Amino acid sequence: MHHLPPLRLGTLRVKTARRAKAPVAQGDLGLDLGNRELPVLDERARGARFLSLPVRQVLNSPATTGMEFWSINPYIGCEFGCSYCYARKTHEWTMEKQAGRPEGPTLRGRVAPSPAWHAFEHEILVKDTAPDVLLRTLDPAKIGKAPIVIGTATDPYQPAERRFRITRRLLEALLLHRGLHLGIITKSPLIVRDIDVLKAIGERHRLSVNISIVSADAALLRRIEARSPAPHARLRALERLTHAGINAGVLIAPILPGISDGWPALAALMEAAREAGARWVVGQALRLGDAARTGFLPVLEREFPDLVSRYQQRYGRTDRAGKDYERALARRILALQETFGFPLRDGMRRLERHVHPLPP
Ligand code: SF4
Repeated sequence: MHHLPPLRLGTLRVKTARRAKAPVAQGDLGLDLGNRELPVLDERARGARFLSLPVRQVLNSPATTGMEFWSINPYIGCEFGCSYCYARKTHEWTMEKQAGRPEGPTLRGRVAPSPAWHAFEHEILVKDTAPDVLLRTLDPAKIGKAPIVIGTATDPYQPAERRFRITRRLLEALLLHRGLHLGIITKSPLIVRDIDVLKAIGERHRLSVNISIVSADAALLRRIEARSPAPHARLRALERLTHAGINAGVLIAPILPGISDGWPALAALMEAAREAGARWVVGQALRLGDAARTGFLPVLEREFPDLVSRYQQRYGRTDRAGKDYERALARRILALQETFGFPLRDGMRRLERHVHPLPP
């Protein structure tokens, strides 16, 4: 049993000013803006503080996110602190909305850690009413055939979940229905706590669990992900899931050019995934939007200074690494999938089936 520090209750007050106009990506957060105070649910002796975030709805629709699936994120903010995390801005927007302030300063080009950066990892917003809201509002007819994915923006099994169990309660709410296509993305071995619910979910729905791992190299990972679980712990969790009959695979994302995209590194991860019983392994190159830039660029400069000019060339004007790189990486992933006996995923079948050196 895990020891938790004593519960401290209180309220974080945020200044009320003019209401911010929400960016499009935030339009479906379902925040209850009438509430100007965020009750403090818990505060650790060192580190994170957990704030209750009232919500009116839980499911983000494909229309509001621009993705092909519905999504649920039980938390905003994440203690794992991955440098490349693209969800940091979500936390900033949410706090601004709660405070009713106009949009804050843009993060574009900013490379130094900021209060917002710190807050993302240390002031975790907990949607503690989300399971009840989902129970009241889930309409399978409205969902249709599109999948519902839990954990598209922040990790649903981050440390907060150990205490608040929002993800587990959301899964329990989904047990009241049948026939949905459900996905979960996580870096955390905590998911094995819910094997019982996941097995029941798998009997009623089509379930896919993606264990997200950038590299099997623990030392490398520690340089780019401050507090994420070690890769061997994630692989062990994957093994427990697959042994329990849960449909699970590995998501290698993001793949970092020049850092984690080498054939030996990817092959090591694929081999470890196969040994853990993964049903699939898929991968995707780093996308470096504004929020990810803020966290990642200082780490790149500190840990991989020789790669700075290469990243400036590739990501200087766009958040994508470039079509040539992405195509070459897709070919490499495809070749590795074939080598290790994994199904060939997505549009990769159309690509040439031989490996090219990745462009710089
Ligand atoms: S685990 Fe996911 S949500 Fe958490 S910091 Fe890392 S990338 Fe962001």
